[in-house]
Amino acid sequence: ALKVEGLTKQFRGTTALDSVYLEIQPGEIVALIGPSGCGKSTFLRCLTWLEQPDDGFIEVAGQPFGRERIGAVVRRQSGREIDRIRPRIGLVFQQLNLWPHLTALENIVRPQIVVLKRPREEATRRARDLLARLGLADRAERYPHSLSGGQKQRVAIARALAMDPALMLFDEPTSALDPELVGEVLAVLRQLAEAGTTMLVVTHEIGFAANVADRIAFMDHGRIVEEGPARQLIDAPRDPRLKGFLDLVL
Ligand code: ATP
Ligand code: MG
Repeated sequence: ALKVEGLTKQFRGTTALDSVYLEIQPGEIVALIGPSGCGKSTFLRCLTWLEQPDDGFIEVAGQPFGRERIGAVVRRQSGREIDRIRPRIGLVFQQLNLWPHLTALENIVRPQIVVLKRPREEATRRARDLLARLGLADRAERYPHSLSGGQKQRVAIARALAMDPALMLFDEPTSALDPELVGEVLAVLRQLAEAGTTMLVVTHEIGFAANVADRIAFMDHGRIVEEGPARQLIDAPRDPRLKGFLDLVL
């Protein structure tokens, strides 16, 4: 579903991403962990081309995204091409970013109509299905201000899923939530995992990563320094930086 080669990003002298390689197979769940400032959010933003990587290649569902190689030549895709491919990747941030003036239902319906040109009726059916799946059927007509943090986050997840992405990216989807609301969002992620959704989840919930992810990738200073099956990486870390990180968070 995703192939990343040599992704690099600098901000005025700071190297945020230092040649990142990662592959995710369809249906796979990968957790991305690492210390604050190591480049996790920058990585997700570069994957969606919200931030333009300086170097490297991204392939989504077998399709080059952002840059492509044509023989020995590297071609930068046009804004229009990038906008056409971007909906293949769903992104859910830590801060809740619903449109405040639209109901939960309309938050999910609108992008399907605008971006995918779906007929309203079909978009509404899809949105209601997703709301029901995520336990929000009775909240469809509510505005974001009258939903709890966990409910808002679930609406944001439904909105991303409605676009039928090849891959879902989550950036600490529970970190802005009160502790008692964390469980309901993790339960939704677990449910998506069981349904075969391909996911890359930035998380500091190590327990969640260990139990739900197929693989864990550990990032430090803009590089993935170790990756492997989730249990193995936590129970038998090899890199000293990963050992140090796990000592702090476990
Ligand atoms: P956290 O766990 O705290 O969310 P992170 O792993 O997501 O951290 P990033 O937000 O990706 O880390 O930041 C990586 C590095 O890039 C940091 O040194 C950060 O200060 C820097 N950085 C990120 N965005 C920008 C920006 N827009 N301008 C300048 N520097 C940036
Ligand atoms: Mg971050």
